[in-house]
Amino acid sequence: MTAPLPSACLRGAAQVLRPPRDGLPYVRHDHAGELSLDGGDVVLAGGRIAGFERDATADVQVDATGCAVLPGFVDCHTHLPFAGWRAEEYERKVTGVPYAEIAAAGGGIAASARALAETGDEAVLAQSQVLATEMLAHGTTAFEGKTGYGLSHAGEARSARLGRALAARVGRPMALTGLFAHAVPPGTTADAWMDEAEALARECDVDALDIFVESVAFKNDHLARMGMIARATGRPLRAHIEQFAPHRSVPVALDWGARSVDHLSCLHPYDIAPLAAAECAAVLLPGAELLGREATAPGRELADAGAIAVLATDLNPGTSPVVSMPLVIGLAVRRYRWTVREALLAATLNAAWVLGWSAELGSLEAGKRADVVLLDGPAEHVPYRFGHNPVAAVFAGGALAHVRPDQAWRVERR
Ligand SMILES: [Zn+2]
Repeated sequence: MTAPLPSACLRGAAQVLRPPRDGLPYVRHDHAGELSLDGGDVVLAGGRIAGFERDATADVQVDATGCAVLPGFVDCHTHLPFAGWRAEEYERKVTGVPYAEIAAAGGGIAASARALAETGDEAVLAQSQVLATEMLAHGTTAFEGKTGYGLSHAGEARSARLGRALAARVGRPMALTGLFAHAVPPGTTADAWMDEAEALARECDVDALDIFVESVAFKNDHLARMGMIARATGRPLRAHIEQFAPHRSVPVALDWGARSVDHLSCLHPYDIAPLAAAECAAVLLPGAELLGREATAPGRELADAGAIAVLATDLNPGTSPVVSMPLVIGLAVRRYRWTVREALLAATLNAAWVLGWSAELGSLEAGKRADVVLLDGPAEHVPYRFGHNPVAAVFAGGALAHVRPDQAWRVERR
């Protein structure tokens, strides 16, 4: 028997982010202004959000004066678990060495595949767990990871096992996506590899399937085939598309009922309205856009058109070694010309919907999992104090999982 979780009351917050009403699976971005940021209290009990009336008897009392209380951030697009980093490649990239030259010298996805193959399970899990802890300190209480650096049948199967092992270690909600079509492994063709990807999808324990469509990777035909595989195996389809150039992959992804399309830096203007009308999330990754010097996704246009817009870090060792959702929110507000509410919605409820979890987490509603973030100031400071980590404390599943030392005075355990 484990001891029951202490109850908690976050008292007197200047702002509490609440959805327009309870029970919404997502909120389309043309309605983001309906989220409320009124002041109040939030009570947690038994690992759940218990309500919004002050409880002076709760075991843990948190002084939230001057602060915003938000649902925990949901980072629905990362590439955990991976091994090592590619910092020397980043320096070559920013000083003008073309990707083709970097790749020819053994860099790019192949370098991460090599690092993963050469690193034992324990070391891979240890590095990934450190990153998950860093994410928690930045307010991320639920996240997604992917396979994709295996680049062989056995390597991808191992990557899927490592992903589940990481989830067990982290002990917070972690979804796992099979990105079995990430790069074409050496010695094979994209067409031939799709047979392996299908076999992997059938034998591996993953929650969703994903594919990277780009001139250097897979094509729209392969996206359609992945859609077929997803349908046949009962998994949601996700896709990395329109990152470096427009390939008109959105209509294909929508035909196959994709849950999300991710990146969209080079989204074709004709595809904005159909995507915004579909029940398919537009997952934007402004960290990758900035660090990869990519085009800026049409975030403002997608929001105005009523898309289910989402933000994520794309945490990976190549194009976005970024763990911080506050930083991503700061980038999104500036680059997409979004309001704070739009960015927060994209980082919480709508991101939870991508992972199929929005009935359980992603917003502050009685009965939902008590994943709650206390900021050290108002919500407007998240994008404005760019680069500052505004997270003062984090409750994960009702447990006080992180307190920033300079904010510890706010927490009183009775
Ligand atoms: Zn990615």
